[in-house]
Amino acid sequence: MFIDTHAHLEMEQFDADRAEVIQRAKKAGVGMIVTVGSDLEGSFKAVDIARQYDFIHAAVGIHPHESADVDERMLANLKKLARDPIVIAIGETGLDYFKKYASREAQIQLFKKHIKLAREIKKPVIVHCRDAWEDVLSILKAEKAEEVGGIIHCFSGNREMALKCVDLGFFISFAGPLTYPKSSQLREAAMAVPSERLFTETDCPYLAPQSNRGRRNEPAFVVETAKKLAEIKGVSLEDLGRIILKNMETLFKMGEPDGLGKPVYKIRNSLYVNVTMRCTNACVFCGRERNPIVAGHNLKLDNEPSVEEAIRGIGDPSAYDEVVFCGYGEPTLRLDFVKEVAKQVKEKGGKVRINTNGQGNLIHNRNILPELHGLVDVISVSLNAEDAEHYRLLSRPEFGEGAYQAVKEFIKEAVKYIPKVVATAVRVPGRVDIRQCEKLAEEELKVPFRVREFNVVG
Ligand code: SF4
Repeated sequence: MFIDTHAHLEMEQFDADRAEVIQRAKKAGVGMIVTVGSDLEGSFKAVDIARQYDFIHAAVGIHPHESADVDERMLANLKKLARDPIVIAIGETGLDYFKKYASREAQIQLFKKHIKLAREIKKPVIVHCRDAWEDVLSILKAEKAEEVGGIIHCFSGNREMALKCVDLGFFISFAGPLTYPKSSQLREAAMAVPSERLFTETDCPYLAPQSNRGRRNEPAFVVETAKKLAEIKGVSLEDLGRIILKNMETLFKMGEPDGLGKPVYKIRNSLYVNVTMRCTNACVFCGRERNPIVAGHNLKLDNEPSVEEAIRGIGDPSAYDEVVFCGYGEPTLRLDFVKEVAKQVKEKGGKVRINTNGQGNLIHNRNILPELHGLVDVISVSLNAEDAEHYRLLSRPEFGEGAYQAVKEFIKEAVKYIPKVVATAVRVPGRVDIRQCEKLAEEELKVPFRVREFNVVG
């Protein structure tokens, strides 16, 4: 399913053929649209449209361009409209210092009023920002916008700005410009944003993606932006659809509250076994406690799966590129489980990978690698840091001082028993020297190295 989190279907550009545009979106696989008012009249129209289609939701607000003309009566009407249950967010609001249609002061005042309203009625905000990053970030912070969260729509900043917005609790939505040949800065930002904070949109009728660039944009064109985003994130379109739907459910509190995670989950054409949530590390970047959602899958486990449950969930392992033991926890803590499931996967013609923190030998107080011989095709070990001190600070191992050395020895030993061994590190800006990690992996440990993006599991 595709989702357009920011369309202006209420605008006059759609007056002649609005119904056809909406039908085309449906036919293209767009399963949800948020139509966003940018003035009071447009907000009423957005609500009207949302009432007519069950897959369209409304947001109401007054764009910063219009902020010079806003009076108390308009704000009172907006407040009343915002309480309508069909309205899921407050916006479009924000700051635009590029076009200068209104003074900065007027824009700032109106932006603050929108945030106050959003907090009052507990609905997220949809934020427009153009050439105003410093003020937008400081206002979001000062006005406690993180209480309700929201979307930075049609994101136009760089990687650093995107991560600052994520740190403030916001989601980042990418529009057609992501597909433009010269938008490498945007693509870098999209790469860095955790999947659990991503959205797609059109901002139609503006900013059509590359293949329709210069023409009127419409919700069906979100497919092109979604394809680009899936390519950047290295996931399938099916994965991206699930990720964005889950993000909609999280931000707008739609659907059923999250239950418990499944024993297996699919990303691309790999099947992951959700072994355990226990771990002998407490990495500073780990989302285990904070938000155990990975690529739209809930990994929260109350009970660890049994061998039978895992085997049932896997079905025919030869239908997948690989079966991966990985979740928000350390698989070798359940070594017998891993060995038994891996054995059955291999017997049915599947390929097996284990993603591990490399502390299996410490955990079991013996060399477990000969036991994995013949059962595991690939082992991916989190080296995580360039030296023991950085590892201690970043991964906070239960085993203390000796853990880093043990991980390195585990990698060297793994080479003797497993056909492919890879060392990995997560790119945590300012905390990991990725080049040193790579050098260490290749020159000392003699294994290939892979960088993993912050907050990306899989
Ligand atoms: S090793 Fe993996 S599961 Fe364990 S704390 Fe670190 S990131 Fe989380």
